[in-house]
Amino acid sequence: MKTKHALAFLCAGACLIMSACTPECSESSLFAMDTYMTFKAYGENSTEALSQVTAEIQRLEKLFSVTDPNSDIGRINSSLGPSDVSSETAALIARSLEINKETNGAFDITLYPVSKEWGFTTGSYHVPDSETINELMKQTGSDKVTVSENIVTVSDGAQADLGGIAKGYAGQKAAEILKENGVTSALLSLGGNIQAIGSKPDGTAWSVGIKDPENTSQLAAAVSVCDKAVVTSGTYERFFEENGTAYCHIIDTKTGCPVQSDLLSATVIGYDGTLCDALSTAFIVMGQQKAEEYLNIHTDIDAVLITTDHRIFVTNGIFGDFSLIENSYSIIPLSTLHISH
Ligand code: ADP
Ligand code: MG
Repeated sequence: MKTKHALAFLCAGACLIMSACTPECSESSLFAMDTYMTFKAYGENSTEALSQVTAEIQRLEKLFSVTDPNSDIGRINSSLGPSDVSSETAALIARSLEINKETNGAFDITLYPVSKEWGFTTGSYHVPDSETINELMKQTGSDKVTVSENIVTVSDGAQADLGGIAKGYAGQKAAEILKENGVTSALLSLGGNIQAIGSKPDGTAWSVGIKDPENTSQLAAAVSVCDKAVVTSGTYERFFEENGTAYCHIIDTKTGCPVQSDLLSATVIGYDGTLCDALSTAFIVMGQQKAEEYLNIHTDIDAVLITTDHRIFVTNGIFGDFSLIENSYSIIPLSTLHISH
């Protein structure tokens, strides 16, 4: 008789909760895109499929890395004008510009000059003076980036950073590869990005844990999903402290400073992993009220939002598949709020 152990792989934001590996199961891990990734796939082709996934993620990292001067993004950022890039980079930038509009500017890939100054890509963390931030903010704005076929043009010193969207895209591409290889059951963790392929081998849904932002070795909740991405962004994920204040790696587009959000974490759940990744970052910037307004209009997207005042907002579409683990949070169904407004 097979025994199954619930294992929680604690990673950034969302976590895998899965059973022990059965015979026809492969696991692999790698460090890429600045995060630790773990993959698990079932079925006879799973070993070969996972090695293709690893190669794919390494290929995408070579295109999107902001710190590699030879990546597409590196070349765009050191150019003063048009750059000829791969069609994938051009398409992901174009998508990012669309999401910038949809989120009223909250998601913005052009904040790189500012986040670099705060030390988030260099590791030399410090609080810049407001004059420096104001000057650097003049270089930002998605209107300074244009995409025409494979040509990306930046103006006024703008620089792109796909750090808020690339892992979601990579997860989606990995899911495509697994499916092409006939894998119908897999779970991928790309840091805080979880990508489910199909269901568990026994046909039941995958259970994905959502970390407790106030106690990151514990789970606050879990959601059951099949074939979807579950992407969490949180202010607790990457931050530094100076004079008793915590500064997180998500930048507020209005101020050029690390966001001070009423959301500790935003988990976005849907079929489009690229969009889920971008929105999880955007929701932290937007805060609970604006995120809720977005979700009321875009009902194909589900979310779990954890606030600083210990509430967990859960959208209607995922409510039946949501379970609370940490009872000190109170659950607010977003649909009820919607009706009572
Ligand atoms: P993580 O990459 O840690 O999983 P996110 O998906 O929330 O977390 O992405 C954060 C990254 O996105 C930052 O490290 C930075 O590269 C980029 N970023 C920061 N602020 C913004 C923003 N307002 N819009 C888009 N990207 C951002
Ligand atoms: Mg993101």
